[in-house]
Amino acid sequence: MSSKPYKLASLETRSEPTLVTIPPCGRGGKKVVFGGPGVVVVAGPCSVESTEIMELTAAAIKKAGGRIIRAGAFKPRTSPYAFQGLGAQGLRRLAQLREKTGLPFITEVMDTRDVEMVAEVADVVQIGTRNMQNFSLLKAVGRTHTPVLLKRGLANTIEEWLMSAEYIMANGNPNVILCERGIRTYERATRNTLDLNAVPVLKTLTHLPVAVDPSHGTGYTHLVRPMARAAVACGADVIMVEIHPEPAKAISDGQQTQDFAEFAKMMTELKAVARAIGRKM
Ligand code: PEP
Ligand code: MN
Repeated sequence: MSSKPYKLASLETRSEPTLVTIPPCGRGGKKVVFGGPGVVVVAGPCSVESTEIMELTAAAIKKAGGRIIRAGAFKPRTSPYAFQGLGAQGLRRLAQLREKTGLPFITEVMDTRDVEMVAEVADVVQIGTRNMQNFSLLKAVGRTHTPVLLKRGLANTIEEWLMSAEYIMANGNPNVILCERGIRTYERATRNTLDLNAVPVLKTLTHLPVAVDPSHGTGYTHLVRPMARAAVACGADVIMVEIHPEPAKAISDGQQTQDFAEFAKMMTELKAVARAIGRKM
């Protein structure tokens, strides 16, 4: 028996990597595998935007070699006066986009009452940093079969994060991807401190795929590309970034969002880094 408090998530219980697979969907869609030899890039606006912006973004992702789009329909905002997301309408827009482009999507669920609706339509459900220890929500997504991207709580240890993954797995859903998105430290030069130590540490503790989000992890567009390169170099299986055709006009998180040229440049660099360490992209 495993000596760790997390049992199902532990490498002591299972020594082969867990592959989280999304079957082909929509027009011309391709299978996506998280945790395999290929590094997967997820990109998209912070919030679901207009159909036109979503279509332009999907085209830019496909052109650059990204495999899946991200966008929040339910948004956890620090201010109750800030835009809260398009909700169910946003989900419909993402589903239509998938039908048209073949790109699967990741979107956040914040409320246990919405889990069924979101898990039914999304290819991957995201648990945001603020909900990493919302145990009711973890149990609810654990009872679905939809893959879960579990973001690290902004003040949580790696062990607490693995215990949250354990909640999802213990409730029947083995398809968990861990996502480092920066933690809160005394440093104010960046929005968060991207803890890339977590990547090789997790690789010694768990078989689950590891993602890194350098957009929230740094908070500034010009820091995203270098930290994405570093994340691939230290062993991340997935890179998730915020992109938008005109970041200055993005509904949320524009200051950390890449435009398509910056994203394409990052993709070229990530392919080179992946190749250098014997991985594909
Ligand atoms: C997001 O991905 O847009 C988001 C809200 O992330 P986090 O929960 O990491 O802040
Ligand atoms: Mn965001």
